[in-house]
Amino acid sequence: MSDRVILHCDLNNFYASAECVSHPEWKDVPLAVCGDPNKRHGVVLAKNELAKKAGIRTGDVIWQAKQKAPNLMVVPPHFELYMKYSKQMFKLYNDYTDMVEPFGADECWLDVTGSQKIFGDGRQIADLIRERVKKDSGLTCSVGVSFNKVFAKLGSDLKKPDATTVIDRANFKRLIWRLNASEMLMIGRRTYEHLQKLNITTIGDLANADSSVLKSHFGINGLKMKAYANGEDTEPVREAIYSRDVKSIGHGMTAVRDIETIEDARDMIYYLSEKVGARMRKAGYRGTLVSVGMRDNALYSISRQRVMPVPTYSSTEIAENALKVFSDNWNGDPMRTITVAVSKLVTDDAPKQLSFFDDGTRNDKLEKLDETLDKITHKYGSVVHRASLIGKDFIYDKTDAEDFLPFQR
Ligand SMILES: [Mg+2]
Repeated sequence: MSDRVILHCDLNNFYASAECVSHPEWKDVPLAVCGDPNKRHGVVLAKNELAKKAGIRTGDVIWQAKQKAPNLMVVPPHFELYMKYSKQMFKLYNDYTDMVEPFGADECWLDVTGSQKIFGDGRQIADLIRERVKKDSGLTCSVGVSFNKVFAKLGSDLKKPDATTVIDRANFKRLIWRLNASEMLMIGRRTYEHLQKLNITTIGDLANADSSVLKSHFGINGLKMKAYANGEDTEPVREAIYSRDVKSIGHGMTAVRDIETIEDARDMIYYLSEKVGARMRKAGYRGTLVSVGMRDNALYSISRQRVMPVPTYSSTEIAENALKVFSDNWNGDPMRTITVAVSKLVTDDAPKQLSFFDDGTRNDKLEKLDETLDKITHKYGSVVHRASLIGKDFIYDKTDAEDFLPFQR
């Protein structure tokens, strides 16, 4: 069987570019899209090329960024605008294949194996798409072309902005193996730190690592990582409509000491909801029913539920509803274990049925913010997401499962 041809399209500096395209007068100034300076979101979410050249990085706090570029233009995020572009681009991609799998608002995979008779080979289709993206929107994208999803994604990062990179069986060892293992899908921060302890730094190291060592440290996922590093990734490009048989997504934790105040409970519930929300976003599910389990030291436990106003995967929305369940049902006794779970799941492309009381706008915004924070968290570790837990002594969480989630579905 001949190889598949898979494209990974990544819009360059998406949020910042969308701002610049809709405000041509900002074309020649360094610009950063930043969250609310008074909240945990007061960091750089995106920046344009000029800001990048000034050394500004995603995740910088605003004052740091301004020190690097005193003439920096700081704008708040306009998610409606970004979603408008995002939808427009996904529609454009669909002209080249119906096998399009979104990965966040600005990235997706395309399986164009069957489209080559009409549009040319992988590189030609990638170039066609880049030209159209530029002409139709003014945005630019980088495209990786390869025989699997993992390499296509790595390829789209190799040359930016507005470039096509082809990773084939002849060149992948030269182009991919020198990259840091942390660049590869499936390798989160903690997995990478673990790999480094085994003297595995690059994707090439991983490709040539001893299978039994990998297996003993990471289980079956260790073998999967090695296979991916060798180009043995057979994950299909999943079309947007794809039903997966999962009934609920949850996370629970036993505290190191008793939870005696509503403040402690709130911190824990927010923490758990961050975990649950992040996993739902990765897996592409929204849900409408939140359940909270509470258990005291004597193993007395209850579980209570609440229907949320709209299907959501926003961590904040989940946390607010979970906290309501908790405070409505807590009798004040010390608690030891809390779990938060969301069920009544729908895939994230299902049409949203809006509630009479909530037009979904607030939820949309919360979700977009979460998606951006997910990316920052993925890049820089857990700093942003868990800010509210800094200094909390009672939270102890040893699960590491989210590192593996993108391919665990
Ligand atoms: Mg991008």
